[in-house]
Amino acid sequence: MSIADPCTACELLLGRGRVPGGLLRREGGFALHALADASPIPGWLVLTSERHARAWYDLAPAELAALGPLAARVMNAQRAVLGAEHVYAFAIGDALRHFHLHLVPRTAATPERLRGRRCFEGRPEDMLGEDALAAAARAVAAAL
Ligand SMILES: [Zn+2]
Repeated sequence: MSIADPCTACELLLGRGRVPGGLLRREGGFALHALADASPIPGWLVLTSERHARAWYDLAPAELAALGPLAARVMNAQRAVLGAEHVYAFAIGDALRHFHLHLVPRTAATPERLRGRRCFEGRPEDMLGEDALAAAARAVAAAL
């Protein structure tokens, strides 16, 4: 699998990417934003490293120390604001130069076929509008 070039995450971090709700927060070397792609899940957020560091093993000790508490706070906000029963965390790292942790809320309304890793397999008709995605992302960020 090829790495994105030019770097789409750098573009996003510079505010040039199109992401519903924009950049929500920067903290501890990471930026919080909604999924920068079509999404079937409202409140699907991503923590992206501000520097090039492909995976957990490339993160500095201070980044690793910041990441856990920050991710847990985002997950708790997703649970409180969106009524999520659970929040999945995925760090795959095949396609970007930046570590990015997907934080994907699962609610009672999440259809079975979009649960777990199948959230990445939404069909075109599953994808939500940008306004709904932006509203959910901003609501979670406001609760942090
Ligand atoms: Zn980059």
